[in-house]
Amino acid sequence: MAPFKFCPKCAKELVDRDDGGAQRRACPDREGCGFVQYENPTPVVAAIVERDGSVILVQNKGWPSTWFGLVTGFLEKGEEPRSAMLREIREELTMTTSEISFVGHYAFEAMNQLIIAYHAVVEGEWTLGDELAAAKAVPIDKVKPWPMGTGPALKDWLEQRKRTAP
Ligand SMILES: [Zn+2]
Repeated sequence: MAPFKFCPKCAKELVDRDDGGAQRRACPDREGCGFVQYENPTPVVAAIVERDGSVILVQNKGWPSTWFGLVTGFLEKGEEPRSAMLREIREELTMTTSEISFVGHYAFEAMNQLIIAYHAVVEGEWTLGDELAAAKAVPIDKVKPWPMGTGPALKDWLEQRKRTAP
């Protein structure tokens, strides 16, 4: 979420304030209103979707045509991260997951997000959901993690895989 310019409680213009060592946007009416914008990261689930020795990468609508990433999505209110992940795979690829395991948590500072990453094994053919422009299956030994966002999760998973390979 972009920082607010005006207080969402009383509509005064927000000011910068030192809050226990952190700089935050806050309402100038400290006593009467007291609003502080904490800008806590938003949790996002991400999946390394594996099928037949390939990872399925997706391109969201509006992305440049060379960009591909993991399946990602926001949690609905009260939703478990695992359930959110299964739902996203169902909605974006119309695929059913047979196996899911946790990979790790990753801070994505540029987007102020906390990425909760899973590995998911799927079967069958995909049909693109409303949010996607394209998808492609990249053989696991050819897939190259990118430096930001969900890339580090993919990198860790590839390394874990190498370590546990027979
Ligand atoms: Zn206020």
